[in-house]
Amino acid sequence: MELFKTNQLKIYNSLSKSKEIFKPVLEGNVGMYVCGPTVYSNVHLGNVRTFMSFDLIFRYLKHLGYKVRYVRNITDAGHLTDDDSEDKISTKARLEKIEPMEVVQKYTVDFHTILQKLNFLPPSIEPTATGHIIEQIEIIKDILAKGMAYEINGSVYFDVLKYNETENYGILSGRNVEDTIENTRSLDGQSEKKNPQDFALWKKADESHIMRWPSPWSDGFPGWHLECSAMSTKYLGKTFDIHGGGMDLKFPHHECEIAQSNVNNHVHPVNYWMHANMLILNGQKMSKSTGNYILPNEIFTGENKILNKPFSPSATRFFMFQANYRSILDFTSAGLEASEKGYLKLIEAINKLDKIEVAATSTIDIKAWKQKCYDAMNDDFNSPVLIAQLFEAVKYVNLLIEKKETLTAEDLEEFKSTIHMFVFEVLGLQNEVKQNSTDKISGVVEMLINMRKDARDNKDWALSDKIRDELSSLGIQLKDGKEGTTFSVN
Ligand code: AMP
Ligand code: ZN
Repeated sequence: MELFKTNQLKIYNSLSKSKEIFKPVLEGNVGMYVCGPTVYSNVHLGNVRTFMSFDLIFRYLKHLGYKVRYVRNITDAGHLTDDDSEDKISTKARLEKIEPMEVVQKYTVDFHTILQKLNFLPPSIEPTATGHIIEQIEIIKDILAKGMAYEINGSVYFDVLKYNETENYGILSGRNVEDTIENTRSLDGQSEKKNPQDFALWKKADESHIMRWPSPWSDGFPGWHLECSAMSTKYLGKTFDIHGGGMDLKFPHHECEIAQSNVNNHVHPVNYWMHANMLILNGQKMSKSTGNYILPNEIFTGENKILNKPFSPSATRFFMFQANYRSILDFTSAGLEASEKGYLKLIEAINKLDKIEVAATSTIDIKAWKQKCYDAMNDDFNSPVLIAQLFEAVKYVNLLIEKKETLTAEDLEEFKSTIHMFVFEVLGLQNEVKQNSTDKISGVVEMLINMRKDARDNKDWALSDKIRDELSSLGIQLKDGKEGTTFSVN
C-alpha cells in the first residue's frame, strides 16, 4: 500500500465506544453487513442517509485496496408493526389487498431506483429474509437445544434473563436488563412470554396472517432480529469485521443479534459495530411512522413545501457528507442550497483543471495536502474534514490558473488524480456541470485547426487541404488571417 493509505484506518466501534485501528479478520479482506430496508413503503431521506454513510465506507475500503464483501439485506418478512401484532409487509398487503410479495417488489424497486439515482454502489450480496427461512429455523432449533429459548403456543421466544445469567444482554446499548423492560414494545402474545424482555424467534401466524411458513412449532414467520444473524453468518462467517445500521437499531435489534450469535456460535459475531446517526427534520428524527419525513424524489423535483427548488442527486449526496456519519444532520432547504453551491464550486474547479499550465517548480506541497485528505478519511471516515481539504484544492486551482502558485508536471498530475479520486470514486459525486455541446464542437474544430497548422508547417499540403475540405463539406469554413485561422459555421 502507498504511504498515504497505510494501515492506520481508525473506526469508531460502538461496542468499545472508542476509535480503534482497523484490523480485518482476514488480511486484505473485509466482511461488512448492513441492515437493509424493510420494504413496506418508499425509502425516505433518513433511511437514505444511513445507507449513504455505508456507501461511503464501502467505497473508501475498496479504494484502500481491500476486497470487500458487502452484504445488505432486504427485510421482506418478520419486521413487526408498532403494536407488534403483525408483520409490516403483511399489514400493508392486507390494507392494499395485494400479495405481500407485490408490496415487497414495489418497494424494493423503489429502493433500488432511488439508490441508483444517488449513484450508490450495489452491495456484493443483497439477501432476503424470506429466502433464508430454513437457515433461521435451524438457528432456532439450536438455541432451543441449548436451553436459551422456549416454545409457547407455537411461538418461540429467546430467554433473555437466562442468557443474562452468563452473558451480558446490554453489552452494546449499555442498558441493564431491568431498564430494557420499559423499552421493549409490547409484543403480541406478551402474556405468553416468561418475561417482557424476551423476544420472538418464531411467531405463530394467526388466521388472518398471510405470510406464513411451516416450522416444527407452527405455521408462522421468523422474528426480525433472527434474519440478520442468519444471513450475516451465512455469507460472512461466525465472526466478521463490520456490522452497520442506523443508531436506532442498536437496541433492541443489534443487542438481540449479539445474543442469538453468542448462543448459536459461542462467539460475539462482530469486531466493529458501526452506527450512523439520524437525519433530523423539524427538530425530530425523520420517520415514516410519525409522518415527519421527506422523500428523495421530492428533493429531485422540488415538490415539497419545505423546499424552495429542486436539487440534484449529487447536491443531495454532497449535503449528506457535510456532517460526519456519527453526528446528527439537520435537514433544511437552506442547508441543501449551501451544499449545492459548494458542490458547484468544486465541480467548476475540476472542470478548470486542464487550464493549469505546468511549471519548472512546485510552490504547493501536493503530497502534504493529499496526506491530509487521507488522514481525514482514515479518522473514522471523516467526510466534512475531507470536504474542507477539497475546498483547499479549489483555492489552489484558482491560484494555479492565475499563476500565483505553480506545479511541476508530476505534481500537477498527482493533484488532478487525487481530486478526481476523492470526489468521484470516494464521495461518489457525479460531474453534473457538463460543458455544453457547442463548447465541445468548438474544441474539436480548434484541435483540427491546430493539426492543419502542423501539417502546413511540415509542408504536408495534402493533409492540410483534406482537413479544410472535409470541414467545408460539413458546413464549417476555415479562414486564414494574420492572427491565425478562424472558422465559421454555415
Ligand atoms: P427501516 O427500513 O425502518 O428498517 O430503516 C432502514 C435504515 O434506516 C435503518 O438502518 C434505520 O436505522 C435507518 N433510519 C431510519 N430513520 C432514519 C433517520 N431519520 N436518519 C437516519 N437513518 C435512519
Ligand atoms: Zn439487521
